[in-house]
Order: sequence, then C-alpha cells, then structure tokens
Amino acid sequence: MTLSPELHAALAELASRGRILVASDFDGALAPLVLDPMDSRPIEGGMESLTALSTAPGTTVALVSGRALGPLRELSGAREPLLLIGSHGAEDSRLPDGLALDERQRVLLATLEEETRRLAEDHPGIRVEDKPAARVIHTRGLPPEVGSAALEAATALGKRHTDLVVTPGKEVVELAVAHVGKGVALLALADDLGVDAIFYAGDDVTDEHAFEALAHDPDQERAARRVTVRVGDGPTAAQHRVADEPGLLEVLQTLEALRTSR
Ligand SMILES: [Mg+2]
Repeated sequence: MTLSPELHAALAELASRGRILVASDFDGALAPLVLDPMDSRPIEGGMESLTALSTAPGTTVALVSGRALGPLRELSGAREPLLLIGSHGAEDSRLPDGLALDERQRVLLATLEEETRRLAEDHPGIRVEDKPAARVIHTRGLPPEVGSAALEAATALGKRHTDLVVTPGKEVVELAVAHVGKGVALLALADDLGVDAIFYAGDDVTDEHAFEALAHDPDQERAARRVTVRVGDGPTAAQHRVADEPGLLEVLQTLEALRTSR
C-alpha cells in the first residue's frame, strides 16, 4: 500500500457511510492525457473499479467531465448505473435528451442556433462548431480582416443576448447558454441523490473549482465528510493528492475493497 495513512483513513470513513457519491474527472485523472483527445483511454482497471463500486449498495458513481456526453460515454465505455455529467455540468446522462438546461436556456439555444446560421451566411468561410449548450465560431485560415470582422460580429451577437456567456480566444469565440461548472453540478447531483458524503478526484482548473465548491457545500455535515483528491502536482484546494492516474486507480481500488466488503 502506498496511499498516505490520512487518505486511507478518509476512504475507510467514507466507505462506512450509508449513501455516498463517488465522482471523478476523466481526462488526466482516469485517462492519461494524450495528444489527440479522441485517442484518450481509461487506465486499465479504472472503469472496472468504478463499475464494481456503482453496484455496491448505497453507492452512486459518476464521471464528471468537460467533454460532451457522447464522446465521454464512447471513450470511457461507461455503462449504467454509472452516471455521466458532461460539458462541465450542462449535460446529464439521467435526462432524456441529456441536456441539463431549463426552458429559458433551451429557447436561448434555439435563438443562438438561428443567429449563428445567419452569421455564417454573412461571413463565408467561418466554421461553426456545435457543442451541446454552445456554438463556437472558428476563423482560422481566413484572411485576418475577414476573420476579425467575423469575430467582432460574433462577439456583438453575444452581447445582444445578455444571457449568453461569451468566451473569446485566438481566432475563436465561444457563445454558451449555460455556464454550470463541475462544482455546481456535483452539489446538485448530491442533493438529488440525498447522499451523506461525496468523493471527487480531478487534475485540472475546473476540478479545483469543484474542490472549492465541495469544501463550501451549504450542507456543512456533508462538506465535513467529503474526500477530495488532486491528481498530479500544482497548487490545490483538495484535501489529498496522488501523483498520477495509477495513484488514483489505487485509491479507487482501495475504496472499492472497503465499500464492497462492508
Ligand atoms: Mg481532467
């Protein structure tokens, strides 16, 4: 065993609770980072361990990712009863169409669809990428003046609809109808499930937001019972740290053994 005694004790305590949520990021946590995101595969044993945990009584398991639901399901190979939260919380595999949007956001998404279609007609050569709750305008490869005019028009479109979240980049603008975040999504899921404690592991900036959200969980008893694990180095708001994906695998297998032997 190479887990720290503190982490092992925290897992043992977590495993003793009545109802728990075990959630993890995918890329960089369960699956080593690779050059082409579609080549990403979970570490051997990782999904097996999560699947075993998901069938243990009182245990819900979720993958929480910035990826869209489709690729997340395909690359992870996750099957029910594992839950998938995609697009940083804008997608939820429990919903009929997967889209975790309210009525107002759905109307806004339809408006965005219509507006970007018009934008593409007015600015030939731009590429519109469809995301579940967003459209991304790409101008790479276009003459600079053509590209910047298109980006300006896209930004103006975003400003006309004040509920859109506009994220500019280099030769790209993302217009999103929902900016949920992993922390908000995790707490909402935990509320829905009525769990006593939450486990979460991840490796990136969006996971740091989740670690902070769980630390400031309005349900203070649940906050006190949380177990958060940062995968890799760098400053963190998580309580524990493992070096890499094999380190997280050891955590999950330990939790699985503790939980299934209750
Ligand atoms: Mg990650």
